Amino acid sequence: MRFGQSFLEFELDRGINLTEPWTIVTFYEICFLNLDMRLPVFLMISQIKVLFVFMIFAEDALTRLVDGNARFVSDQHYSESYSFERQRMESVESQTPFAIILGCSDSRVPLEIVFDQGLGDLFVIRVAGNIAAYSQIGSIEYAVSKLGARLVVVLGHTRCGAILASLNEYIHTTDGLTPGIKSLISRIQPSVETVISQSDETSTNVLVDQIMKRNVEATVDTLRTESPVLAHYQQHEGLSIIGAEYSLETGWVKFYDEKES
Ligand SMILES: [Zn+2]
Repeated sequence: MRFGQSFLEFELDRGINLTEPWTIVTFYEICFLNLDMRLPVFLMISQIKVLFVFMIFAEDALTRLVDGNARFVSDQHYSESYSFERQRMESVESQTPFAIILGCSDSRVPLEIVFDQGLGDLFVIRVAGNIAAYSQIGSIEYAVSKLGARLVVVLGHTRCGAILASLNEYIHTTDGLTPGIKSLISRIQPSVETVISQSDETSTNVLVDQIMKRNVEATVDTLRTESPVLAHYQQHEGLSIIGAEYSLETGWVKFYDEKES
C-alpha cells in the first residue's frame, strides 16, 4: 500500500478477494484510520472492511504453510494455475505477506518453493544457520509492524552445513576463519555446547540435527524476548513466533509445538 493511499483505492488496486480469512481490527489500527478526517463515513467503513481482509491470523497463516508444504511434497503446484505474470502485476504497488520465514541460506531449502507460495506471499529472511542477529530482528520487526504479518517461523533443516561447521569448530578450533564466519558461528556455539553437554550421541549427522533443533529454539527465544517491538505484538496484536524444521530427505516441514520451541 502506498503512503497516503486510501484503503478503498488499495482495495480496488489489489482486487482483494473477500473470501480471504478475516481477522480483527485492532484499536490502534482504527485510530490510525481515523487520522485522516477528510474521509467520509462510507469510506471508513470500506477501509475497515479491507483491514479485515488485509491481515491474516497466525493460525490461518500456519494452515497455508502446512497446505503449501503438502503440495510441494506431492508435486502439486499452486502457481501452475496462477501465473507469475499475474502475481507480478498484482504485487507491484504493495506487499501483504501472510507469514515471515527466517530460514537458512542453504541452496536446497528455497522457502517459497518448499511452501509452494507465490510472489508477495512470504517475507523471507535467509542467513546461514537461521540465526537472529540485529539485521534479522530488524527485518522481522519491519514485516510485523509495517506489513501486517502475524506469523514468524524460524526454519532449520537437517544436515545443515552451518551447524556442522559450528560443531567442527567446537571440536577443533581452526585458524583463519573470517570475522564474518566467526560472528555467525558464535551465535550457534551456545547450542552446540548445550547439546554436547547433554547428549551421548556419536553419529555426526544425528548430533548436527540435535544442535539444529536447539539452535532453532534459541533463535525463537531470541525473537520472543529481545525485541520490545515483537514483544508488544505478541502480547497485544496476535503475533505468533514458532520453530520448525525441514527434512532434506522427505521435503516435509515439521512445525514445533508453540510451547516446545
Ligand atoms: Zn543450513
